[in-house]
Amino acid sequence: MPDLTLVETQPRNRTRAVRVGRLIIGGGAPIAVQSMAATRTQDIEATVRQVTLIAAAGADLVRIAVDSRKDVEALAEVRARTRDLAIPLSVDLQENYRLAELVAPHVDKVRYNPGHLYHHERDKPVRDKVAFLAEIAEKHDIALRVGVNCGSVDPVKTAEYGADDVGAMVASALEHCAMLDELGFTRYVVSMKDSDWKKVVEGNQRFAEQRPDVPLHLGVTEAGMPPDGVIKTRIAFEQLIAQGIGDTVRVSLTVPFDDKGMEIAAGREIIADIAAGRFRSVPPNFGEGLNIISCPSCSRVENMAFIDLARQVKEMAAYASEHRITIAIMGCRVNGPGETDDADLGLWCGPVAVNLKRGAEELGAYPYDTVLGRLRTELDTLIEAKRAAQ
Ligand code: SF4
Repeated sequence: MPDLTLVETQPRNRTRAVRVGRLIIGGGAPIAVQSMAATRTQDIEATVRQVTLIAAAGADLVRIAVDSRKDVEALAEVRARTRDLAIPLSVDLQENYRLAELVAPHVDKVRYNPGHLYHHERDKPVRDKVAFLAEIAEKHDIALRVGVNCGSVDPVKTAEYGADDVGAMVASALEHCAMLDELGFTRYVVSMKDSDWKKVVEGNQRFAEQRPDVPLHLGVTEAGMPPDGVIKTRIAFEQLIAQGIGDTVRVSLTVPFDDKGMEIAAGREIIADIAAGRFRSVPPNFGEGLNIISCPSCSRVENMAFIDLARQVKEMAAYASEHRITIAIMGCRVNGPGETDDADLGLWCGPVAVNLKRGAEELGAYPYDTVLGRLRTELDTLIEAKRAAQ
């Protein structure tokens, strides 16, 4: 698919060019549009199909999650079977950063999360772990992404910045850039994501002021289902890309696996609109009522029923649209517990049950077919409490 470049029409930050396989991110190259496979990586047939589908939708890059050695074996097979597509592959590392050594021969880029890196092998200085990753990347001729997530910033930064969670996210990204630079490794991009588009805009602006040379990967994480998920993402991208910030984008949507191409179509459409000066106006009260956030799912999703559940929650909670309440729905135990802490009501999905939370408080685990009723009761109680407080 031809790329729409903003080079002619929009100012772009002079970021350095980072090569990811055959793709160039930054350095004035067209903004790359990417997505992530939502299938279980070990389900090789489904993952090959997913990569093929995303590539066919016009993606410039596809990401896959890897958590174990068995995932790495599957990744190698997926890579072999999708080589003809000539699409660069990236891998998302979770806690176990040492897997990078096994992953690197099969991919073009590895993403690590500084927050997760902090927690794994705590006795080891973070700088040593970063040095390990940089050495692996150098040896295998691949790029890195420092992928900071506002919900999982390392606790040292969180303690330092207190309520300024955007400041903690930016500081973490800057710290990792400094470590990589000192190590002489500059083939990296940075992302700073949150489910709140305002924090995504602020974080990327603050970072770009200090490091205009570093290519940025933009995204609103857990944006939810279309159309709201696309709208939240569009607002962030319009504000950032129009200021010359952003070299690659991902639109994260909670959609069935077979519809993952929508993420690419939405990304291309937003970029084309910005390039053409077609900015959408947003009602002044957008995002002020009920806010449903849900993850886009990935190979870690524990039960495929998660996507249906997210849709059912949206339908059930429609009656509360006027209320300033956030409901978060996450697909797994890896990120689900942490990513639901800041929501008024949270659900994170396990293999056979859904864990319900009120803020950070656990309310128990419920079967998929009964959790909606319990959620409704909690929502009613919350609305009543808000009314009484008023
Ligand atoms: S919450 Fe879990 S399933 Fe959802 S995208 Fe994040 S890691 Fe994947």
